Amino acid sequence: MNWIERDAAVVWHGFTQMHCYGDNTPIVVERAEGRELIDVDGRRYLDAVSSLWVTTLGHRVPELDQALREQIDRVAHSTLLGNGNRIVVEFAEALARVVPVDQPHFLFASDGASAVEQALKIAFQYWTNRGIAGHSTYLAFGDAYHGDTVGSLSVGGGGFGTDVFDPLRFPVLRAPSFSQPGALRAASEMVREHRQRLAAVVVEPLVQGAAGMLSVPAGEFAQLGDACRETGVLLICDEVATGFGRTGTLFASEQCALRPDLLCLGKGITGGYLPMSATVAAQKVYDAFLGPDLSTRTLYHGHSYGGNALAAAVGLQHLQLLQSMNVLDNVRARSAQLGAALEKELRGFPVVKDIRLVGLMGAVELDTSADATFARKTCAAMVKRGVLSRSMGPVVTIVPPLTVTAAEIDRIVSTLAAALADVAGSAP
Ligand SMILES: *Cc1c(COP(=O)(O)O)cnc(C)c1O
Repeated sequence: MNWIERDAAVVWHGFTQMHCYGDNTPIVVERAEGRELIDVDGRRYLDAVSSLWVTTLGHRVPELDQALREQIDRVAHSTLLGNGNRIVVEFAEALARVVPVDQPHFLFASDGASAVEQALKIAFQYWTNRGIAGHSTYLAFGDAYHGDTVGSLSVGGGGFGTDVFDPLRFPVLRAPSFSQPGALRAASEMVREHRQRLAAVVVEPLVQGAAGMLSVPAGEFAQLGDACRETGVLLICDEVATGFGRTGTLFASEQCALRPDLLCLGKGITGGYLPMSATVAAQKVYDAFLGPDLSTRTLYHGHSYGGNALAAAVGLQHLQLLQSMNVLDNVRARSAQLGAALEKELRGFPVVKDIRLVGLMGAVELDTSADATFARKTCAAMVKRGVLSRSMGPVVTIVPPLTVTAAEIDRIVSTLAAALADVAGSAP
């Protein structure tokens, strides 16, 4: 058996039809160097999807490897339920200096979906603890994506083949998608109208990533923050995708002039090394949970690996590197280059319907009316040419590591153009 057969025999891959897993040119990674993944046969692929948007500085960053080695000689993990861990305290202190949240408190978990789930439960209990009845639903946006656990799926806009779970999703108030003009205005009006029923609003600031990089100008978000402040409805910003530099600022909330009551972090928090996420609560939210020992005001929620020490050590070093390596400057420069290159090389293809880019979150939307698998085939053709991407429906995503070089941007775009010519047979 080859590696793909051995893989398919025992590993069940997420968001993947296993019946034809092997037909979609999967790669089986053995190791990596810089921004390239190297498969079991020694072939190299530029990781243009940042291993699903988590890799920031690249793979095998010497300083991150070193931080991990040093921590493993101290302790790999100890529980945060009722106890502390030195490196976690240090990491939370460092994060506290940079997150756009007032006097932040960090509840760690392991995945983005769990960070959102925690935020939803905290927002609900915030009202209960204060003895104010009725705030039992959420406002969320059309086309939103917040993760795959049942609560996160409920605030998500649906789709991605998850309709089967609709009977399990709890109802929420639904504002328009970012693809609709005036979505933020409509959402702000809904907050005012339904202020008595809402525990919180949940939003992906600046860009709905999984929806295919749908963005709204940053200036439109302030009105949502205003509506929340005015009504007391909590604001949850889901920065699982946008956090840690992906959009050109450390957090997208900064560009949107939002200061959330609850902030969800994940993906890039450890530079793509280890599973970690966090729900960040502002002081006013945190204070609502203080009370006597074992009282009902306590947040009865926690995950076994929340605040893992190895992840915290890497996360702390990663935060320092984002600053010392001037990573945000690179994101802005490479984003400008990528945007121009995509327009120049791809606009001429009749099959290209739209090109969207925020920071280093890029989407090339293809016309899939003749062939639903067209974007998938394009990605497969890219893989054959040594660039790893991933399609979402009709969209080819381009989400390179934040340290991507100018030459690598050119390589990604020329490979995508060549792949499109392969598949569509219609170079401009
Ligand atoms: C990826 C993502 C999540 C879910 O994170 P997981 O770690 O995959 O559970 C939640 N929200 C947004 C905006 C995301 O992009």
